[in-house]
Amino acid sequence: MKSDVKVLIIGGGPAGLTAAIYASRANLAPVVLEGSAPNLPGGQLMITTDVENFPGFPNGILGPDLMMNMRQQAEKAGADFKGLNVDSVDFSSRPFVVSTSDGKKITTDTVIIATGADARWLGLPEEMALQGKGVSACATCDGFFFRGKKVIVVGGGDTAMEEASYLARLASSVTLIHRRDRFRASAAMQKRVLENSKVSVAWNSVVTSILGLDEGKFRAARVKNVDTGVESEIEADGFFVAIGHRPNTSLFAGLLDLDPSGYIATVPGSAATSVPGVFAAGDVQDTVYKQAVTAAGSGCQAAIEASRYLEELGE
Ligand code: NDP
Repeated sequence: MKSDVKVLIIGGGPAGLTAAIYASRANLAPVVLEGSAPNLPGGQLMITTDVENFPGFPNGILGPDLMMNMRQQAEKAGADFKGLNVDSVDFSSRPFVVSTSDGKKITTDTVIIATGADARWLGLPEEMALQGKGVSACATCDGFFFRGKKVIVVGGGDTAMEEASYLARLASSVTLIHRRDRFRASAAMQKRVLENSKVSVAWNSVVTSILGLDEGKFRAARVKNVDTGVESEIEADGFFVAIGHRPNTSLFAGLLDLDPSGYIATVPGSAATSVPGVFAAGDVQDTVYKQAVTAAGSGCQAAIEASRYLEELGE
């Protein structure tokens, strides 16, 4: 059976867009399903401000501008974009079948999965109830609401350092709550935070509950010192969770091999998944680097591998 498309790319972040540029230039007329609300086209960089580590921009570039440039480049190369989410995929026969949120089905010879990863939450019951009412997982999205106010950031990795530095520019004070006695973050990012007079750290502390549900907005975090067992309250106006990300792979569970954390398992040094013809690129399969430039690099790799796979099929 002839397929509708040769290369279907799921996801419109740096990995999906780079795959789209390469697949277009290989004359494969890729279709990109870039998502619709609540999935943001453009991925995590759409909620990032300054990007200073993407090569080629000596003065930095705003995340949304970088994504818009990549999208324009892919469109100019010939990629077809659709603002649709994927409801389900069927990799059991060929061509593969991808069902989309408009109720239609697309058949395709290859799929490049670039669905990225989303912020992780602490899992406290009040967290969801108070989202948008003082509780957030994105400082660049919501920091503006806390100008001149007190905020809390939870986490000890690079994301937490980045969020704390960003918020310190807006808020009157930032309290970083971390469950251990040292940060996981890179030395340079830690230094910037620890030297910032607006930032203080509650070490060896876990958040046991989030207070403010009765008032309808976040009021304080109840924290327990894991060494002493002593509990206390830290009052603030904003509460930012910055403890990492979860890969967007629920569509593929049971269909592709995933690693124990739920990331798509790829053949080392390749974008190939456990199903020939299905490739994965970017944060959805990257447990190590998670950078825009590595996502873009793996998108390029996936497109080249998809092209070679199609050649082998005689396409
Ligand atoms: P990480 O996994 O590196 O860090 C997560 C942090 O959250 C850790 O400090 C961890 O604590 C803590 N944590 C995890 N779960 C919980 C929990 N349930 N309760 C309390 N604390 C918790 O994630 P990041 O998002 O920070 O970084 C991911 C990757 O992205 C890294 O490789 C990082 O270098 C990279 N990155 C790079 C940036 C840059 O260069 N500009 C910016 C942001 C990210 P513990 O340390 O105890 O495990």
